[in-house]
Amino acid sequence: MTMKRMDMHCDVLSKMLTASDIRFANDSRLDVTYDRLKAAGMNVQAFAVFIPESWRRKPFDAVLYSIDTFHRRILSHPGMFPVRTKQDLQQALRPEESRIGALLTLEGAEGLEADLTYLRIVWDLGVRTLGITWNDANWAADGAREPRGGGFTAAGRLLIEECDSIGMTLDVSHLSERGFWELTELTEKPFVASHSNMRALCDHPRNLSDRQAKAIIERDGRIGITFVPYFLRGDGIQAGIDDVLRHVERLCELGGAAAVCFGSDFDGIAQWVKGLEHPGKLYILENELHKRYTAVQVEGFMGGNILAFYLKHLPDAAVAG
Ligand SMILES: [Zn+2]
Repeated sequence: MTMKRMDMHCDVLSKMLTASDIRFANDSRLDVTYDRLKAAGMNVQAFAVFIPESWRRKPFDAVLYSIDTFHRRILSHPGMFPVRTKQDLQQALRPEESRIGALLTLEGAEGLEADLTYLRIVWDLGVRTLGITWNDANWAADGAREPRGGGFTAAGRLLIEECDSIGMTLDVSHLSERGFWELTELTEKPFVASHSNMRALCDHPRNLSDRQAKAIIERDGRIGITFVPYFLRGDGIQAGIDDVLRHVERLCELGGAAAVCFGSDFDGIAQWVKGLEHPGKLYILENELHKRYTAVQVEGFMGGNILAFYLKHLPDAAVAG
C-alpha cells in the first residue's frame, strides 16, 4: 500500500514574494522545497497566499502577485502541477503519477478588499480554500488576536454566502472564537482549521477549544495539527515530536480520528519542532504514529483524511471551468 500524504498549510509563497531569487527546487532559505516534498513522498501540498506587512496597502495586488509567483516559481517546476478540481486530485493520487499536486489557498480575506468580484476572480485563478482572517480584524471578521473579540461584519456574512455558493472551502484558523461560533450558524457546510492545535493542551488564542474541535468533527470538517512550537506547548522552544503526538491524541479522544491532518506552517515559522524542521523529516513523525495507531489511522492522519475531504468538496472539472 502506498501512503497518501498531504500538508494543509505552508508559507513558501510569502517568502518568495519578498525575495525574488528564492528557488523552489532546493533553496536553503526554504523549509518546503521540491526536493524535500519528493523525499517525503508528498502527494499534495497546499500553498497559502498571505499578504506580507510591506504589501498591506495594496492587498489585492499582493494576492495577484502571489498567484503569479505560484505559477512562475512553483508550477513551473516539472515535478509540480495544480490541483483545482476533483479530477486533478484523483490524478495526484494515482500510483503512476510522479508529480506533486499544489493546492492554492488564501490566508485572510483582507486580500479581497471587501469585493466579492475579487473572490470570484481568485476562485477562477484556482484558489480553493479561504482563511477568513489572519490574526487582526479585517472587513469580514475579527481575527484571533483582535482584542475586541468581535465576530462577522455584514459584509463578512455576504462573503460566507458567496463562498458557499461557489464552493470555496472555509478555513477558521486565525478566526476569533466569536467568529467561529457565528460561522457555525452562517453555514451548514463542513469547514477546516488548516493550522491550529488544541487549547486544552496549550492555551493559546490560535488554538481550538475542545468544544470548537467537536463542532468541526461533528460536521465532518478537518483539523490540521500544526508544527508551530508555541501552539504545541507553553514553553514553545522546547517542543518536540511528542508534543505533536499529544495534540493528535487529544483530537482522537474527542472522537476526531477522521478529522486529524497536518498543516505544518513550514516557512511561516522562525522556530521549529525539534526533529521536525522540514518536510524531509515527516517520516520520523510517521514512524512515531505507527507505534501508537493502526496503519489505516496513520494513513488518514498523514493525508488520507484531508484528501478525502477535498475529493468530496473540490468542484468537478466540468463545472469548474
Ligand atoms: Zn497562519
